[in-house]
Amino acid sequence: AKAQGRNCLQFFNQQIQKDAERNAELHLYLKTALSQDEFELYYQPIVNPFSGQIIKAEVLLRWVHDGQFISPDEFIPIAEESGLIVQIGEWVRMQALTTVVALQKRHLAIPLSINVSTIEFWTPDLQQRFLAYFDVIQQKLGLDEFPYSLITLEITESLMMKQQETINQLLTELRHRGMQISVDDFGTGYSSLSYLANFPVDQIKIDKSFIQKISSGPRHKALIEAIVSMSRALDLAIVVEGVETQVELDYIKQQDIEAVQGYYFYKPMPQEAFFDLLAK
Ligand code: C2E
Ligand code: CA
Ligand code: CA
Ligand code: CA
Repeated sequence: AKAQGRNCLQFFNQQIQKDAERNAELHLYLKTALSQDEFELYYQPIVNPFSGQIIKAEVLLRWVHDGQFISPDEFIPIAEESGLIVQIGEWVRMQALTTVVALQKRHLAIPLSINVSTIEFWTPDLQQRFLAYFDVIQQKLGLDEFPYSLITLEITESLMMKQQETINQLLTELRHRGMQISVDDFGTGYSSLSYLANFPVDQIKIDKSFIQKISSGPRHKALIEAIVSMSRALDLAIVVEGVETQVELDYIKQQDIEAVQGYYFYKPMPQEAFFDLLAK
């Protein structure tokens, strides 16, 4: 048993070593990914579950390095640790707003939901930079008016408990300009509820782990129903993510939820396919 324990430990050590090497490698490539034009935005429609109508879409970042697709779940944390997320986030918002303007020209504009890492709000300096970058985009795109009302910012609760006062001010300013604030992955962190108490938000996105468990027992349904009634009491919009099956969709409709996102309707798609879809 002792030898086995030792083998096990050795295995873990090797795994940790491998992970560290992979992280270091990705960090290196990530530094040049922007200048090498390795990023692309995908779009996943968010629909009305009753009519199937597309009401908005989430912008999702894709990275292809050396012909290899690297998942955002893997590289976003590395970008966050290294601070590269700040430039990457700005690139995402520049591209997404370019898309909004292109859609406006075709009379196809719908609101886009953009993921924002809370690292970008880490310090008051970064918060200023975040806000100022919208002016950079406006200038670059030559816009008289910025289409703020077509933007939702999706923010997760992790790390948000730092800098509460200044983050609150920033979110208030963003909403004042007309953007909506959405709490992403709602229900998965430690502090979802205090988040709602402390920050001005418009919407919650119920994490996909909830809908995926509705068949495994009444407790999971009860949790969703509690979140839904709480959202209504607080006058928050709801999006349910990860809807993949008819059973899940039927349940969502029963709860009278107004917006869903998931493979049942659409997977994330490249810009061209997204434009074609909207033009149909
Ligand atoms: P997220 O914000 O929770 O995004 C939703 C994820 O669920 C996406 O994964 C999407 O492809 C996936 N998804 C959508 N519908 C379904 C479904 O029906 N079933 C299942 N199993 N999955 C579904 P993706 O695109 O791999 O992104 C992973 C995470 O990476 C995102 O999770 C977000 O946290 C982060 N991310 C993606 N793009 C950006 C970005 O531009 N900036 C930042 N800061 N983070 C991003
Ligand atoms: Ca999101
Ligand atoms: Ca989410
Ligand atoms: Ca997530």
